Amino acid sequence: MLILGVESSCDETGIALYDSAAGLVAHALHSQVAMHAEYGGVVPELASRDHIRRVVPLLRSVLAQSGKALADVDAVAYTRGPGLSGALLVGCAFAEALALALDKPTLPVHHLEGHLLSPLLSADPPTFPFVALLVSGGHTQLMRVSAVGDYELLGETLDDAAGEAFDKSAKLLGLPYPGGALLSKLAEAGTPGRFSLPRPMLHSGDLNFSFSGLKTAVLTLVREHGDSADENFRADAACAFQEAIVEVLLKKSLLALKQTGLQRLVVAGGVGANRQLRASLDAAAKRKRFRVHYPELEFCTDNGAMIALAGCLRLQAGAVAKPAGSFAVQPRWPLSDLQR
Ligand code: ATP
Ligand code: MG
Ligand code: FE
Repeated sequence: MLILGVESSCDETGIALYDSAAGLVAHALHSQVAMHAEYGGVVPELASRDHIRRVVPLLRSVLAQSGKALADVDAVAYTRGPGLSGALLVGCAFAEALALALDKPTLPVHHLEGHLLSPLLSADPPTFPFVALLVSGGHTQLMRVSAVGDYELLGETLDDAAGEAFDKSAKLLGLPYPGGALLSKLAEAGTPGRFSLPRPMLHSGDLNFSFSGLKTAVLTLVREHGDSADENFRADAACAFQEAIVEVLLKKSLLALKQTGLQRLVVAGGVGANRQLRASLDAAAKRKRFRVHYPELEFCTDNGAMIALAGCLRLQAGAVAKPAGSFAVQPRWPLSDLQR
């Protein structure tokens, strides 16, 4: 079974082919980051227009890479939500029209399910059940994943997402959008311990998070210091921010493993690319003897491969692909509303 995957929920256009027997066949991605950087954030109208420009060339590139023909495709999976409505509509219209022309069914996919399952694309995939730490630009959640489609929310952020906190703090430190990865790089040059920032909700006893206060603490630090062009200050502040957020993510993940009694942790979403987070989790895994799995770096942020994979796994789990031609997206869509 060959599944074509289409991702267009935000500022990345991704197309991929996934084979139920052979795994990932080919994938292509275009990131709009450079286009939006000028505005300091994603401009939804520009995002939609750019997805329109990219979908067909990316599809051609994936077909050329794989040596497959459109006629080989058995079903078309695409991101139905959550995300920007205009951006989602581009992927939906493209996928539904293509499937209609090919006389093949479609598989509307939940974007977060794509992120959650993305570690299954790696050479050493996790087995079910596991605890998932989903840390992306728009979400921070801990989940118990028992099987494909069987997700129990254990805790989530009450305000900003982890990626959002990284990006907002990066902006306060004068870094361009999206600053998460740049802040992390800057932090490597910092002196640990010069500043200490709060660890919000570290001892709340539950599995929820709150990061807006941490961002405010960075703002206060910048104001108090006065000279935001001071390189040493910026690196030390970045270091303090990263230490605080990584400690919270680590401790809450450990608590989730303890509460569920599980011994496998899966990290997904853009912040899962963070080196310090990975190093801290790896060290804890060694100490406490649990396994930790990450997606390949290129599949941490948005991509078509995870959407093709999620569509394929859903089909294998008994989901029924639907006839092509309907035209609906779900910009707001809690994962808990996902039908098995
Ligand atoms: P969602 O999936 O919740 O809708 P999204 O798709 O925008 O959000 P992702 O693409 O998974 O989110 O991740 C993007 C986020 O990851 C950004 O906030 C970015 O700054 C952050 N990020 C990427 N690399 C790193 C890194 N090395 N360290 C910290 N944050 C990072
Ligand atoms: Mg993105
Ligand atoms: Fe995403």
